[in-house]
Amino acid sequence: MDIKARPRIGWGGTTLKEMLTHSEQLLADSGHYYGLRDLKLADATPLLFERMHLKLRGALVSAREIARNISASPIVKELGELAFTVFTPEGDSVALSTGIIVHVHTMSDVVKYMIRNDFEDDPGFAPGDVFCNNDVLAGNVHNCDIHTIIPFFHDGELVSWIAGVTHVPDVGARTPGSSPVGPMSTYDQGLTIPPQKIGENDRVFRAFRDTYKRTSRTPLLLELDEKTRLAGCMMIRGALTHLIREEGIDTYKQFMREAIENGRRSFIRRVRRMLVPGRYRVPSFCDVPWQDERGHLPQAAVNTLMNSPLEITVKVDGTIRTTLDGATAWGYHTMNCSPSALQGGMWVMLSQSLADAESINDGSYFALDQYFPSGSWSNPGNPEAGTAHAWHFLWSGLNGLFRFLSHGYYARGFLEEVVAGYGTTTNILYGSGLNMFGEPFAATNMEMTGAGLGARGCRDGLDCAYAMWNPESDIGDIETSWELWEPMLYLGRTVKPNTGGAGRFRGGNALESVRLVWKSHNAVFQHVGHGMVFVNSGMFGGYPSATGYRRSVHDTNALELIDARAPLPVHDHDPQDSEIERLIEGRHVLDDKALTLPEPYADGDIYVSCIQGGPGLGDPIERAAHLVAQDLNEGHLLARFAAPLYGVIAHQDAGGVWSVDEAATAERRAAMRHERAAGAVPVSQWLARERERVHAGNFAPWVLRMYRESIRLSGDWGREFKAFWGIADASAVYEPPAGRGVRR
Ligand code: MN
Repeated sequence: MDIKARPRIGWGGTTLKEMLTHSEQLLADSGHYYGLRDLKLADATPLLFERMHLKLRGALVSAREIARNISASPIVKELGELAFTVFTPEGDSVALSTGIIVHVHTMSDVVKYMIRNDFEDDPGFAPGDVFCNNDVLAGNVHNCDIHTIIPFFHDGELVSWIAGVTHVPDVGARTPGSSPVGPMSTYDQGLTIPPQKIGENDRVFRAFRDTYKRTSRTPLLLELDEKTRLAGCMMIRGALTHLIREEGIDTYKQFMREAIENGRRSFIRRVRRMLVPGRYRVPSFCDVPWQDERGHLPQAAVNTLMNSPLEITVKVDGTIRTTLDGATAWGYHTMNCSPSALQGGMWVMLSQSLADAESINDGSYFALDQYFPSGSWSNPGNPEAGTAHAWHFLWSGLNGLFRFLSHGYYARGFLEEVVAGYGTTTNILYGSGLNMFGEPFAATNMEMTGAGLGARGCRDGLDCAYAMWNPESDIGDIETSWELWEPMLYLGRTVKPNTGGAGRFRGGNALESVRLVWKSHNAVFQHVGHGMVFVNSGMFGGYPSATGYRRSVHDTNALELIDARAPLPVHDHDPQDSEIERLIEGRHVLDDKALTLPEPYADGDIYVSCIQGGPGLGDPIERAAHLVAQDLNEGHLLARFAAPLYGVIAHQDAGGVWSVDEAATAERRAAMRHERAAGAVPVSQWLARERERVHAGNFAPWVLRMYRESIRLSGDWGREFKAFWGIADASAVYEPPAGRGVRR
């Protein structure tokens, strides 16, 4: 078709680009979405407004529940890694389903990308068209999240966009898995699908299907996921057709605008009710220890320490500004993030806590002003930067967001809303090779959704039950989710004591699985976690959660033990008194290298997956002593930590039941308070001592490089850092060394 002859599909004979420009102008001029100072429909007919919202929301949720059963991937079917949403013609989200709602905003970016880049002319938008994206540059978190987007027309006008996303198991990168950890840049991280038309008349082109299936190690699962997304979108299209027939097109158009402005106002109301205006600083850190990795290029074989100096300003008018000014540089790994990913990440967290879950849509996004410095891990500004495992930095770097909210809630007295943070959803097990059916497999084991939630303001955190990116998630059934695909048997899956941080209220513990490699061929497996630094911190004197560790055993006698019907280990439990070490002979690996590249495993080898717990809240020696005994009896605390961490002296009776020795506990706690007071120094004295160290740059090399990168990327951050420590004359220490290794 001649491009010039294309019909105008915007409202009232306009183009979509004109509609987008107009909408942005109205928001900028008035501060209200679409310039709406009055919500005429919602105010005059509140029941109609609510009925439309509930019908739309119901259609989205039920489409998700039905469509997930088309998928054969445990990630979608069992864990629920999918979501659907409806957008305005300009790409602003009106309503969304449950699920991975981080993508409501990423797919909004994709629709706007298509409009800004004149897709309206080439390839054009017509009824029955199907579009796809997984490209982070257009709008995504990482390339295993694949989007299907369809236009919805009424009387020749594009009235809405309908979109769905699933998280697929393998993207055909240099190393296997959903979010490959091993590629060094965008060029070896697998499948990239920039926004494009992939079908007509509700059918996906064969050429597109053949292309992505040829790229992934799990082609069948990708194909069924694609059918899941398209079927869900078509169910929502049916429901939308019905809704417009019932309520009228003009009412629907007005409803979309008002729903978003209502979402914006609702978010602002919540901020004003629940938080305290001011500047909040909530930094986090995260390790990538690649220095000694063989097979990495020199620029990738470095030990990276990521700095996430998250700062949030709550304004008196209820709007919020967030900035990552001072973040470290992007690097040659797959953990870099796009602004779209960070916006989505913040969105999914705010929607669990601050925003009203029923009225959430892009209105909340319009109440946020966000800054992601160019050249940093949060906004590389370079298409070479790998992002396939963006979550590694996202879930680390956003941990402070819960601490920020919790300080506000605490100050306003909403004690039950306070959460100290969360455990990052690691360890992840990735792997590939041939499985027990002699077929190629790619493992992405997502039982890491059983991480621990941090302690709350009035009770302990949740055990084995929290993933910040999908709070409704599930760890998956052992037999049908994981043993069906991975050539590894579960010897045990248990609560892992001490993974949560200690505190008056302790962080939720996570789970531990022991896997036996079984009927595999050329199999490799990988650990993806954090072993070197704490990625969260406790609150009000609570402890951070434990760092991860690696335990595996190669060349074992496990198969002989099975033949002899001898006992097998079901957990590692206490790494200093390990059941695996007691029962299994072989080459034992035990270290803090929780992030590895894929390594070969043979049948009979043992792999331990230890997930992260959440941080604690309040001083551990203020914890009710009977709760410490309960933790001992329920397997949440190793006995050797009761006295040093909590000051609790407990004894075990003949039946193995722990009880508190109240007198000895009171004495021990009094002694601990005395020791603390005796060892304390004034803050001024401590600062003076630290200043010497900071002035000389006397840090581990990766810490010094972290500071140098932050200071190079942000003059403001560097000036504040130097002013705080009084080290304006220490410039040379914090200048990057000249020549090799300096990235501009
Ligand atoms: Mn994902």
